[in-house]
Amino acid sequence: MDARDENARLVVAIDGPSGSGKSSVSKEVARRFNLAYLDTGAMYRAVTWWCLHTNVDLTDADAIVQATRSVPLDMGTDPNGERIAVDGQDVRSEIRGDDVTNNVSAIATTVPAREVLVAMQRQIIADSGDRMVAEGRDITTVVAPDATVRILLTASEEARMARRGKQLGAAASS
Ligand code: C5P
Repeated sequence: MDARDENARLVVAIDGPSGSGKSSVSKEVARRFNLAYLDTGAMYRAVTWWCLHTNVDLTDADAIVQATRSVPLDMGTDPNGERIAVDGQDVRSEIRGDDVTNNVSAIATTVPAREVLVAMQRQIIADSGDRMVAEGRDITTVVAPDATVRILLTASEEARMARRGKQLGAAASS
């Protein structure tokens, strides 16, 4: 297989702990191979933002699932420019703020909401013509276990802490 053949199926699934450089590596691979890019964590964050914005009770699993099913999410897939809008509002910086970060586990631990998001992610990958780099913690095992390439990134504790600190600093000042 020639990875640069514009028509060849090429799904690259990248997992790894926070601060391992998942996003930077994923975007760079997508750019170099002319692939679309999907940040699944941003989708969990966008749903969390939507729940907070519409006052969904985060202790109510049914309400979370309902909100996940109906979220008006516009998820861009261009590795050169992030587009994440909910109900027409650009939420790129909001989804990285403390409110969302502190509440995202409510969505991530609601199994039927995960199923909705996994289905959306599979659809986005299919819509790319199976030419995509997708990152996230269940990408290699649940969302795209049949990916062409599956990568688990690792990094030293030191490097992860340093990167995570920088990211949070950048989010706080944006
Ligand atoms: O990667 P990021 O930190 O943006 O992800 C935010 C949160 O979304 C994670 O902490 C995790 O709870 C959840 N998540 C998930 N499955 C994914 C991606 C993210 O449960 N595939």
